[in-house]
Amino acid sequence: MRGIAVLGSTGSIGCSTLDVIRRHPDRFRVVALTGGTNRARLEAQASEWRPALSVLAADPDSDRRLIEVATRPDVDVVVNAMVGFAGLEATLAALAAGKRVALANKESLVVAGELVERARVAGGGELVPIDSEHSAVWQCLVGHGGRASRLILTASGGPFRQWSADRVANATVAEALNHPTWRMGNKITVDSASLANKAMEVIEGHFLFGVPYQAIEVVVHPQSIVHAFVEFPDGSVLAQLGFPSMELPILYSLSYPERWTDPGVRRFDPVAASALTFEPVRVDVFRAFSAGVAAGVAGGTAPAVFNAANEVAVARFLEGRLPFGRIAATIETVLERHRPGPQESLAVVQAADRWGRAEAEAVIG
Ligand code: NAD
Ligand code: MG
Repeated sequence: MRGIAVLGSTGSIGCSTLDVIRRHPDRFRVVALTGGTNRARLEAQASEWRPALSVLAADPDSDRRLIEVATRPDVDVVVNAMVGFAGLEATLAALAAGKRVALANKESLVVAGELVERARVAGGGELVPIDSEHSAVWQCLVGHGGRASRLILTASGGPFRQWSADRVANATVAEALNHPTWRMGNKITVDSASLANKAMEVIEGHFLFGVPYQAIEVVVHPQSIVHAFVEFPDGSVLAQLGFPSMELPILYSLSYPERWTDPGVRRFDPVAASALTFEPVRVDVFRAFSAGVAAGVAGGTAPAVFNAANEVAVARFLEGRLPFGRIAATIETVLERHRPGPQESLAVVQAADRWGRAEAEAVIG
């Protein structure tokens, strides 16, 4: 029995993780659950799973208790399914304590990829992806010498894939939340509509697999069946396929290096999946994508500032206070004003995050 902590258990990935664990009761003991503000759901989960600890971010002393959850001796696996910058400290603490971190919180790697890698090496922890594209890359790499010459991540293209730039600029909240292939939390759903999410995934891929930015490409694939392609030095290309569902990547992050039978995972059917199509990203329309990748390439504190500006802009958009088109414009303006420095410490990254948020608020007005 492995002890598991689910951070962000009340969210989309958190609930899917508990659905997967429910089908493998002999393998896991749920030691801790944490949520943000949804007290009723956390209490319902706690009464089902009887964890030693459950923590709500809205409660007093929650920061310290979150770190306690991530580092407890009886926790072997930490599933980080929190959203946003808030997930970073738990990722660092769990890796420094030698845990396996099954990472859905891609923001951890976006804002502090270098620090995350340092914490992993120092603590002997293990970092495994839950994000479907990165799970796909990982599954292709296992057993193939681990060396990729090129990664091609797929993107659904989101609800505005074929829209004109003018129409995208004035898209409503309901339209942005109407994702064609995935059901996810609101923040990542908006990020998928702006393609900021795909820029984050390029940065995530760079740090997870040590692949240089110029060897990471993105292609739009509206059916979301092929999750990523991996090219090897000899030119051979492998891909991982499946109907869009996060349960398989979650399962693999828990079962690795084994593969477990799971009746809850929908079996693949090539006829039902066809046809599979691929097209380029419209970088002129989806400017948050280009801005995010450029921040990743600039490195240091730039990706933390990109993330901070995006988090603020998305929150304002969801409140109905910012047009969709101004999400990318806000990110661009804040990044233009930023002078990136090295990613020296958590304090430096936190300061960059605070600066990026304040600048974004000022730009939005
Ligand atoms: P969500 O909004 O449904 O859930 C987020 C969880 O984090 C909730 O439990 C919430 O209570 C908690 N939380 C939010 N703010 C918090 C704070 N300040 N302190 C503590 N807890 C807080 O989001 P989601 O869709 O489950 O996504 C979670 C993460 O997984 C994100 O980083 C997202 O990019 C990534 N991800 C999600 C999917 C998906 O299919 N949903 C796929 C790939 C990656
Ligand atoms: Mg993804």
